[in-house]
Amino acid sequence: MTGARGPEDSLAPATEYAANWRSLSAESLVVTIFSPGLALSFSPEKPMLTIRCAACSKKIWRYDKIGQGEVLRCHKDRIKKIYRAVIADNGRVSCPCGKRIGIDKGSFYKMIAKSFTYKGTKRNG
Ligand SMILES: [Zn+2]
Repeated sequence: MTGARGPEDSLAPATEYAANWRSLSAESLVVTIFSPGLALSFSPEKPMLTIRCAACSKKIWRYDKIGQGEVLRCHKDRIKKIYRAVIADNGRVSCPCGKRIGIDKGSFYKMIAKSFTYKGTKRNG
């Protein structure tokens, strides 16, 4: 065998491959739309607020807010993830950009109105 093939030999597998490729790409398109990452960000089981700096709109922390009222304070044990808060020795909480967000009051941070924005879901406790 020298590897030389007749035209009929090579044509048939090539057509078959092309057909498989078409069905595969259609499938992967569906996978992309319903990717697990996207499903996670819309997870209905974990209502959570993302607190952002009002000055630079960077994420400060993620907060488990109970009740539908305004965010006036953030209880430390319900802050689920801190992204970039700067907590000074005097208890002042700031964004790295310098914007003051709140102040340490022991078990919670008292939030400075209009220094932050939030997006997400509050849950009813
Ligand atoms: Zn900021």
